[in-house]
Amino acid sequence: MFDVEKIRKDFPILNRKVNGKPLVYFDNAATSQKPQVMMDSIVDYYSNFNANIHRGVHTLSQEATNAYEEARIKIQNHFNAAKSHEIILTSGTTHSINMVASGFSSLLKHEDEVIVSALEHHSNIVPWQMLCERTGAVLKVIPMTLKGELDIDAYGDLLSEKTKLVFVNHVSNALGTVNPIKKIIDMAHDYAAAVLIDGAQATPHIKPDVQELDCEFYTCSAHKLCGPTGVGMIYGKESWLNKLPPYQGGGEMISEVTFEKTTYAELPHKFEAGTPNIAGVIAFGVALDYMNSIGFNQIAAYENELLHYATNKLLEIDKMVLYGTSKEKTAVISFNIEGIHPYDIGSIIDKLGIAVRTGHHCAQPIMDYYKIPGTVRASFSFYNTKEEIDIFIEALIRAKTMLS
Ligand code: PMP
Repeated sequence: MFDVEKIRKDFPILNRKVNGKPLVYFDNAATSQKPQVMMDSIVDYYSNFNANIHRGVHTLSQEATNAYEEARIKIQNHFNAAKSHEIILTSGTTHSINMVASGFSSLLKHEDEVIVSALEHHSNIVPWQMLCERTGAVLKVIPMTLKGELDIDAYGDLLSEKTKLVFVNHVSNALGTVNPIKKIIDMAHDYAAAVLIDGAQATPHIKPDVQELDCEFYTCSAHKLCGPTGVGMIYGKESWLNKLPPYQGGGEMISEVTFEKTTYAELPHKFEAGTPNIAGVIAFGVALDYMNSIGFNQIAAYENELLHYATNKLLEIDKMVLYGTSKEKTAVISFNIEGIHPYDIGSIIDKLGIAVRTGHHCAQPIMDYYKIPGTVRASFSFYNTKEEIDIFIEALIRAKTMLS
């Protein structure tokens, strides 16, 4: 039984007021709010077993190492990776993607091709453009349709023996479209191309199974799914992680160092140079436990109810334009009211305690496609309510009257 009022009690921030009004937080696609149990785990680590990991013989170091490695196994289980060393802990999706893009510098040659989609966050565009500049590889783009979906036929036409790598998001942050990634992966594999899935927006709503998907890489950021900022992960198939050179040099990632030659540590340490965000990784594991205790099926079903409720209410507002109308969507609504700048709407409703995102959402190619400077984006989480949506709709109507 999904009890949203009980769940809300786990999130202290939901009690606060903003500009004298109860906070309505609809900027979940940017970052989620945090349950107390996750925050407690950070205080617990620093209060009771703070020590550096992997190097110490002393008790605190062993306790910290155990907690850190237990978190890796929780993450492995959550994503159903075959091996724990296929989970590389990073500072987030951006770091993860850059790690792979940097590694591919030594694997690509002039005129090899890589394929991106029109629906990407800048984090899944810019590192690959930099890679193409370094290697002379060619970047091809899967076009999008008016509904905010990928044109899969056009993708089929882009694939060829020259394609070495495909990188697409599981869910678009700007529109909420859930992309048909299994199909995208299978089609790439017909040409022996590797696939990286940016799961930053999918993982708060969907529990991916990387073995079933059969992708080469899958990445996410803890802060979008009730965890802390500055932590994330990348799953990589063992064979591919072995092929990629290390991203950064330093402590932890070596086997032996001499001035003549350094040899690298085994996976996963090869990609984890330096002291990591130990507290953050442990808390990431706690956040996953918390979300799994609610259940991803329940979360998705409830959020879908919120999505439909809000979509229907928004469509009752005159001059409303919704972007991204795919049937396969997470609880994200991107919209504009004709003749009004999204920033003005965001500023006015902030005065009423409502947090939404306005702008291009780090996805300028999508905005260019629709020929708009940006949108208002309301993104819901499992701790939001229909009552909050009613407050939001009333505030929008007020803003519209003021700005028309
Ligand atoms: N990809 C997508 C689809 C995103 O939504 C985000 C975060 N907005 C990122 C990548 C980057 O994530 P981070 O900033 O946590 O590295």
